[in-house]
Formats: sequence, structure tokens, C-alpha cells
Amino acid sequence: MKVFKFGGASVNSATAVRNMAEIVRQYTKEPLVVVVSAMGKTTNMLEQLVPGVRPPEEHNSLIKEVTDYHLQIIRELFAEADHIVYKDFDQLIDQLREQVAQPPTHYSYDYDQTVCYGELISTTIISHYLNSIGLINKWVDIRSVVRTDNNYREGIVDFETTKRASSAFDTADSMLFVTQGFIAGTADGHTTTLGREGSDYSAAILSYCLDAESMTIWKDVPGFLNADPKYFADTVKIEQIPYNEALELAYYGASVIHPKTIKPIQNKNISLYIKSFLSPNAKGSVIGPFATIKPLTPLYIFKNNQTLLSVLPKDFSFIAEDNLRVIFATLAELNIRVNLMQNSALSFSLCIDDNKLLLNQLIERLSCQFHLRYNRGLQLITIRYYTQQIIDTIVAQRPILLQQRSRTTTQLLVQP
Ligand code: ASP
Ligand code: MG
Repeated sequence: MKVFKFGGASVNSATAVRNMAEIVRQYTKEPLVVVVSAMGKTTNMLEQLVPGVRPPEEHNSLIKEVTDYHLQIIRELFAEADHIVYKDFDQLIDQLREQVAQPPTHYSYDYDQTVCYGELISTTIISHYLNSIGLINKWVDIRSVVRTDNNYREGIVDFETTKRASSAFDTADSMLFVTQGFIAGTADGHTTTLGREGSDYSAAILSYCLDAESMTIWKDVPGFLNADPKYFADTVKIEQIPYNEALELAYYGASVIHPKTIKPIQNKNISLYIKSFLSPNAKGSVIGPFATIKPLTPLYIFKNNQTLLSVLPKDFSFIAEDNLRVIFATLAELNIRVNLMQNSALSFSLCIDDNKLLLNQLIERLSCQFHLRYNRGLQLITIRYYTQQIIDTIVAQRPILLQQRSRTTTQLLVQP
């Protein structure tokens, strides 16, 4: 069994879907599970539809945007005006409409019940399309396979239950499966998600549970690059990456791969290929049981939209274990991940992804005990295998708000 993951960019138009279908066609001689993300930027659109995020009067036009985007793709993919895909699609849009009309409860819970429609819709369209061109497949609702707890927006996977439920991918039923990335389900049937860009992780979970011979992530880049080509003209493709190196890079925010992806793959010694859907026969990169990264070159990771929050105890007490416990408990309650942190005697600084709603909730909860100051719109730069010259060039004249260095890695929080 092989597991493929196709991200949003690989299915963002009818042309893209046709292209991914041709890639799938090359691999139909063996059992294959195809994990798909929401099409294009659909998840971003759906985030705006989470109850409480936007005023209800804006919902209709936002739903229309989601509907029109997918309808355009459906119309281009299916010649028959009465193809069953339309009925399935309408049903999903109706369900989405119903969900969006719910009064807000908890943001993270509402979030998962809303954004899941991106993947449900994309896989419904793609499964029908593959069938229509002779790539007969079974559509699996991953929410009844990947089991998580009720830690919404970042579900913790129960691998034992998931492994049992992965019998849904029985090769006696089908040689080709289409299923959703990113989403999962709780024991009592609620939808959860695995964190933004979590489809890689979904594919890794399935690879683990199905003892896959390999996993492949199909991307719009030729492989694992030493920097995001959005920021760098001259990128270097990394041919081979040891698991631990890939884990570090993903942890620091290398957008090529979701940080949780590596562990399940490493635990079963499965090779993870990163290949370009634009040139599917090119070699790409492979993450596996290697001793060193090849070629060895500086690696750059940029994270935009960062917020620096400084937390100062009101009673002039030291930042010590008891204060840190309160801060971290609150961060954990709100599911906020810290990208960089540093403390002095009287203040604790942490860098987090910008999210106004969560920032306000965090401030509200901490403000009885602490003074809080924050600075939004920053950029976090991580450089592995850095030199001082590299740092100087990258930072240029920009003010550095926070910096950390280890022997191999430096992280700098700068004004963009
Ligand atoms: N659709 C989700 C997102 O955009 C999951 C993924 O693409 O991996 O974050
Ligand atoms: Mg994606």
C-alpha cells in the first residue's frame, strides 16, 4: 500500500484536478490511498464562516463564494449537467449553511464543525471525477477512521482505535481510496481537525496504521528546498533528509511539511517522498533513515504574522515556575502554540502566530495577574547552519526584537 497526499494547490482548479488524476493513474497497479486537502484556499474562506467570526449578514455572500468556486470546478470536470456530483455537493453546502447558522459556542469546537466542509467537498468532487474517468475508487469518511480526543483544532490522535478503524481501507474492497486530510472525529461523532496544514499528518497517520511501503506528498515545488521560493530566488533542493532533521525543520515552521508528520513515519521506518505534481517523474526529495542531510547547506524558515507578547507580573514577582505555570496553563487551554520564548527576571516574552480572537482571550485571562504588552505583524526567521554573515544579510537593517542561538540554529524575531 502507498499513501499519497495532495494539498490544496494541487487541486485548486479543474486543470489541477485533471493533472492529479493523471498522477494517480500511473500508480493504480498497486493499492493506493489518496489523501486530499481542501481545494485552493477554501479553508481560509471557511475560517471566516466559523460562527462568531464575522457578522451573520456577511455569511450568505461568503457561502456563495465557496459555492461558486467549487461549482466552477465541477462544471469544468463533468460534462453531464445531471451528474450525481451536483446532488452530493448541494447536500454538503446545505449542511455547511446549517452549521454556519448555529449560534457560537466554543471557538475551537465551532471551527472544526465548520472548516471540515473544505475537505468533504474536495474529496467528494475528486472521488466522482476519478470514477468518471475509470479510476474506480472508494470514498472514505476519515472522521470514522482517524479518532481523536475532543481537543478541538488540534485533536490528539488515538492510534490504537485509528489502527483498528483503518480496516476501512481493505484492499479486498478497492485498490484505490480517496479520503480527507486534516479532519478527524471523536468517539461521540463530533468532527475535529489536526491543525492547519494537517493533511500531511493525516497521510502519515494512515501510513503508520496501514504499514504503508511509502508516503508521497505532491507539491508545487520540486522537493524539500532550503528556503521558501517565495522569499528566495536561489533555492537548493535537499536530496535526502534524516527524520530528525526534517522534524526540526518542520517544528520551526518549514511550510513544506506539517511538524507532526515525521513521528509516525519514523516509527515505522517509512520513506516519505516529496515530489512535484508539476513534474511527477522528477526525483524530488526523500525523508528517511539517513545519517546526514544531503547536500549540507544553510536552511531558512520564515514565519510571518507573528505576535510578540510580553507578560509582566503585576506584583513585581519574578518570572519563576509558579508564574510560568499560570501562563502555560492558559496557553494550553486556548491551544496556542509558542514559536519562541525568552524570560528575564520580571518579564516573559513569547512569540505566537497572530490570531486576534485568541490573543484577546489570552490577554483577558492573564490580565488579572499580569501586565501584557504586545507587538503584532512581526516576522520570525529561523536559520539552520547559519553564519554571522548570513544573519547580517538576512536581517539587513531591521530591528531585532528577540533572538536566540544554538550551535546549529538561530531564531530572530524582526520587524518586517
Ligand atoms: N485544508 C487544510 C488547511 O488548509 C489542511 C491542509 O491543507 O493540510 O490548512
Ligand atoms: Mg495545504
